[in-house]
Amino acid sequence: MEETYMIDERRIHNTLVAATTNSSDAVVNDVLAKSRHLRGLDESEVAILMQVRAPHLLANLFETARWVKDRIYGRRLVLFAPLYISNLCRNECLYCAFRAKNKEVKRRALTQPEIAREVKVLVEQGHKRVLLVAGESYPKEGLQYVLDAVKTVYSVKSGKGEIRRVNVNIAPLTVEEFRRLKDVEIGTYQLFQETYDRSVYQRVHLGGVKADYDWRITAMNRAMEAGIDDVGIGVLFGLADWRFEILAILQHASYLDEHFGVGPHTISVPRLEPATCSDMASHPPHPVSDEDFRKIVAILRLAVPYTGIIMSTRETARLRRETFALGVSQISAGSRTNPGGYSTDSRADDESQFSLGDHRPLDEVIRDISEMGYIPSFCTGCYRLGRTGQDFLDLAKPGEIRKHCDPNAISTFAEYLEDYASDETRRVGEKAIGEFLSTMDAAPRKRAEAMLREIREGQRDVFC
Ligand code: SAM
Ligand code: SF4
Repeated sequence: MEETYMIDERRIHNTLVAATTNSSDAVVNDVLAKSRHLRGLDESEVAILMQVRAPHLLANLFETARWVKDRIYGRRLVLFAPLYISNLCRNECLYCAFRAKNKEVKRRALTQPEIAREVKVLVEQGHKRVLLVAGESYPKEGLQYVLDAVKTVYSVKSGKGEIRRVNVNIAPLTVEEFRRLKDVEIGTYQLFQETYDRSVYQRVHLGGVKADYDWRITAMNRAMEAGIDDVGIGVLFGLADWRFEILAILQHASYLDEHFGVGPHTISVPRLEPATCSDMASHPPHPVSDEDFRKIVAILRLAVPYTGIIMSTRETARLRRETFALGVSQISAGSRTNPGGYSTDSRADDESQFSLGDHRPLDEVIRDISEMGYIPSFCTGCYRLGRTGQDFLDLAKPGEIRKHCDPNAISTFAEYLEDYASDETRRVGEKAIGEFLSTMDAAPRKRAEAMLREIREGQRDVFC
C-alpha cells in the first residue's frame, strides 16, 4: 500500500539509534556548516542535530538557525488570525475539547451572517489573512457550508480593508471535494497528522473518520491531485517522541516533493495545550520542554530552509519572541479558538478548543515585533500572482523571492500603520520601516519606496 512507504518507521528508529554514537563536536559542526549552503539536510544529519545538548553546541545550532532564517526570510514575519467557524465534531481525539463525547462544550456552527460579523472584526483590526478552522462535522449543507464560509470571508469589506487570503484547516477530503475547495480560491490547505507514530495515533484517536491513519496521511496526495499545490503539514507535539516526529515530517515532505514535484509550503509546530475535559491535553504523554521546542524550530529551519514555519498563539509571548529569530516565519495574533469569539469579544472556555498562551491584541503584538526589528507582513502577493507550489520555490531558492517579499511586507505593514495602528505602534512601526529600508539593496529598496509613497497617498493593496 502506498502509505507504507510514506513513513518508514523502522528507518527512523535506526537513524535515531545511529545518531547516539555519532554526535561529536566535529560531526555536529560539519552538519551545521553544511546547512549554511541552504540546501537542507538529510535524515541522519537531522538526527545528529537532535542529539545536541552541550551548551556550546546548542549555541552553534541556534546561531546557524538565526543565520539561515535571516538569509532567506530577512526581518519579515507574516501575520494571520485563525477563524473558528464551527466546533461540531464526530471524532474522538483524546486531546481536543471539541471531541464528540465532550458534553461540557457548547456546540455551535456559525451562520454565514455570523461568520461575516467575525470577519468584519478581524478586518477592522487590520488582518488580511485568516486560517479558517472547523471540527469534523458540518451542518446539513456538508462541505458546501465550508465553501460558503470561504466565499463569505472574501466578500466582507470594511473601510479600506478586506481579507485577501483564506487558508483552511479542515478534515481530509476526497479528490473531488478538494477540487471544490480549490475552486473557491483558498490559499494553503493545512492539515496536521497529529502524530506519525501509527500505534500512538491509534491510541489517541478513538472514533470517527479520523481514527483512520491512512485516510489522514494520504490527504495531501489527494489535495495535490486536485491541483492544490500549497499545503501545510504538522504534528501536535506532546503525543509522541518529538525526535521521531521530526524525521517523519521530513519523510512526508520528501514524499510529496518526489511524487508531486513540490514539498509542503509550511510546517506548523503546535504543542499540546490544556483543553476542557482532556486529561491528555494537561498531561502530554511526551511533553516537549521549552528548550527542546527551540531546538525543534532551529532544526526544522536548517532541514527545510525554504519551508515556512508557523507558530500559533498557543505559545507564550516570551517563547514566540525567541523562536522568531530561530526560524519561525508566520505567526497568529489576537486569536480566539471559540466560534464567535471575535465579535462577542469572548474567550469562553466552554466553547474553545484549547487555551492560549498569548492573549495580546494584534496592535500590541505588532508593536512588540517591530520593536524587535521585525517587519510584520500581511502580504498575499505570491498567492494572488499565482506564485505558488513549484513556481514559488523556483523564485525562493535563488533568493529572488525577497525582491518581492521585502517590498510587499513594507507596503502591507505601512497599510496597517496608516489604517489601524495606535499612535504608539505607528511611531515604532515607522521607525522599523526606516531602519529596514536602510538595510535593503538598491533595486528592491527603490521599489519599496515607490510602493510606500503610493500607500501614503491613499492607494491600497499595492504589491509586486
Ligand atoms: N478538525 C480538524 C482536524 O482535526 O484536523 C481541523 C481543525 S482542528 C480544530 C486543528 C488542530 O488543532 C488539530 O489538527 C490539532 O493539532 C489541534 N489541537 C487539537 N487539540 C489541541 C490541544 N489541546 N492543544 C493544541 N492543539 C490542539
Ligand atoms: Fe474534532 Fe479536530 Fe478536535 Fe479531533 S482535533 S476532536 S477532529 S476538532
